[in-house]
Amino acid sequence: MSAPPPPYSNPGNQPGHGQPGGPPGYGPPGGQPGYGPPGGQPGYGPPPPPAPYHQGQPGYGQPTTVIVTQPMMSPPMRESPVGMTCPNCQKQIITSTTYQTGTLTWVACLVLCLVGCDVGCCFIPFCISSCKDTVHSCPNCRTTLGKHNRM
Ligand SMILES: [Zn+2]
Repeated sequence: MSAPPPPYSNPGNQPGHGQPGGPPGYGPPGGQPGYGPPGGQPGYGPPPPPAPYHQGQPGYGQPTTVIVTQPMMSPPMRESPVGMTCPNCQKQIITSTTYQTGTLTWVACLVLCLVGCDVGCCFIPFCISSCKDTVHSCPNCRTTLGKHNRM
């Protein structure tokens, strides 16, 4: 009994098994596109960029800025224009002053009448701005910011 031919180790006898270049798509390296060649897999090879730690929670952990809103009559209104921040348009403005007939105007008129001035004289306070109330308004948005009452 001679050596029986091994059924598997016979080169060139069994095509498709052990023979390079035999069955296409199985044995030859590099013949499978998209699987074997390195770098041929887009979206997998390059490391993803480190995502920044995004803390997008507003109002949490941030120091709450307490905005002290100025009341309407906060600054002491005087006769002269005052510099302040307009609560309406939030601009730094110098108030424009206008004069309005106020209590003092009427009181002065009454006093003038009581002391015996003429009818025309008692209207003098209406012509004197210093006898009137000073109305401060924003020159930008025309909002009345305050009034300086003389009484
Ligand atoms: Zn304003």
